[in-house]
Amino acid sequence: MQLNHAASFNDRPVSDILILPFWQEGKKAEPACPTKEFHALYALPVDKADFKGKEAETLVLYGKQKKESRLLLLGLGKKESCTAETLRKSYAAALKECRHKKLSHLSVALPQTDFPAAYAVTEGLLLANYSFDQLRSDKEDSAVLVSKICLVGIDAKTLQECHRAKVVVTGVNFARDLINGNADDVTPQMLAKTAQELEKGSKSIKTTVLDKKALEKLGMGLLLAVNRASVREPALILIQYRGNPSSSDLTALVGKGITYDTGGLILKPKGGMETMKDDMSGGAAVLGVIKTAAALKLKVNLIGVIPSTENSIGSNSYKPGDVYVSYSGKTVEISDTDAEGRLVLADAISYVQTHYKPSRLIDLATLTGGVVVALGEEATGLFSNDDKLSAALKEAGERTYERLWRLPLFTEYREALKSSIADIKNAADRKASPITGAIFIQEFVHKKTAWAHLDIAGTAYRSPRHYHTTEATGVGVRLLIDYLVHCEKAI
Ligand SMILES: [Zn+2]
Repeated sequence: MQLNHAASFNDRPVSDILILPFWQEGKKAEPACPTKEFHALYALPVDKADFKGKEAETLVLYGKQKKESRLLLLGLGKKESCTAETLRKSYAAALKECRHKKLSHLSVALPQTDFPAAYAVTEGLLLANYSFDQLRSDKEDSAVLVSKICLVGIDAKTLQECHRAKVVVTGVNFARDLINGNADDVTPQMLAKTAQELEKGSKSIKTTVLDKKALEKLGMGLLLAVNRASVREPALILIQYRGNPSSSDLTALVGKGITYDTGGLILKPKGGMETMKDDMSGGAAVLGVIKTAAALKLKVNLIGVIPSTENSIGSNSYKPGDVYVSYSGKTVEISDTDAEGRLVLADAISYVQTHYKPSRLIDLATLTGGVVVALGEEATGLFSNDDKLSAALKEAGERTYERLWRLPLFTEYREALKSSIADIKNAADRKASPITGAIFIQEFVHKKTAWAHLDIAGTAYRSPRHYHTTEATGVGVRLLIDYLVHCEKAI
C-alpha cells in the first residue's frame, strides 16, 4: 500500500475517486475542508438533504472532473463532537465503500479540526483495508484492497506521522493474520518460527525458544500439564527487543499462546469451541508489538514471552482434581481444565521475573468468558497492582480507543481459590470469574513488580464492525505501542 500526500487540491494525482469530508451542521451538511471547485456537483444532494453529513455516511457522485470521475461525500457528524475515533470510523466507512466498488487509487481530503486529524484518518483507512483470504480457493470472492492513497492538504512532516500509523497498522495486521489463520497451521512451533523470523528482520531482536525438553528440565509443570494431550509439543517463546541498550529499564509483555482450546477433559460445548483458534491472541499481540517497536525503532527495551500449547483432549489429558507443581514451586489443584490460560501464564511470568527482572510486567490473555459477560466487545478488562501503570495504560486505551476498564483485586476474592490439598486451585465458580482469574495470575507476580493483566477475551475476536473488517482485531498492538511511545518520552 502506497501512502503519499499532496499539499493542495491542485497537486492531487489522477485517481479513481476523491473523498471529501462534511460536517453535519443544522439540517444540511457543511464542507469540512475547502471544496469550492466541487460545489456544482454536490450542491443538489446536499440541498435536498439526501446526504446529511452524519458520522460514517457516504454518498458517491459521478462527474467529469479533470483528475477523477467519482466523488465520495463522507459524513463526520457534528464538528463539536468529532474525536479521533469519529475519524477512524468514518474514513473506514469511506474506504470500505471504495473497496466495494473495487477502486484502488484514492485521493483523500482531510477535515479542518481543532486536533491533529491525519494520524487517525490514516488509521481508519488502513485498518479497514484488511481482509483474510488465504483460505479461499475461489479468488474471485477475495476482497479487493486499495493500493494507493494520496492524503490531500497535508505537508511532508504530517505525512511522516501517517507513515508511522501505517507501520503500526502493519503490526496490527500481522497479529490479525496469525489469529485468523487455521489452528492446525498456527501451532506453537509456527509461532516460534514467526518469532525467529522477526529476529532475522532486526538487529535489535533476539529470539530464544524453549522446547519440551528444556521445559521439562526447568520444571514448568503447569505449561507441561496443559500440553499433555496435544500431539504438538509446547514452546516457551522469548523474544527480546533492545531499543535502548544503555538503559536497564525493561518491560515484560506476556501473551497467552493457546493455539487451540478444547477446554481439556472439562470439554467446551458446541458453540463454545468454534472461535477457539483465537486463544493465542495475546501471544499474537506481543509479536505484533515487538515487530512494530523494532520497525519504529522505539527507544525502549522489551521482553516478550509467549507460553504456547494446544489445550487438547485425550487419554493423557491433565485431570481435574489432580495437583501439579508450577515452575515457581507452588502447587496447583486443577478444578477446571478449561482455565488453562492462567496456568501457562503463571509459569511464563515466574520464568521472566526470575531470569529478566523486568521493571514492569503486562500480560495479555483471552482469559475468561466472564469478562465478555461483564464488558462485552467494547472494553478490555484491566487488573493491576500499580495505579501509575494502570492509569498510563488506561490513557493509551482512550487515545487508541482500545479501551480498558479496571476491575478490582480485593483480597477477599482469593478465598474462592483455596484448595484443601494444594497451595491454590486454578478456578473458582462463575462468580466474578475474570477477577478470580486475575487473582490466580497475581499469585505468581512478585509483590514489587508493577503488573497489569489485560483480559482481552471480548475484544480480541469480535463481530466485524467499522474498521474491524474480520473477527480478529489485533487488539493490544495499537494500545501497547501508544503506551510505549509515551514511556519512551518519559525515559
Ligand atoms: Zn480454556
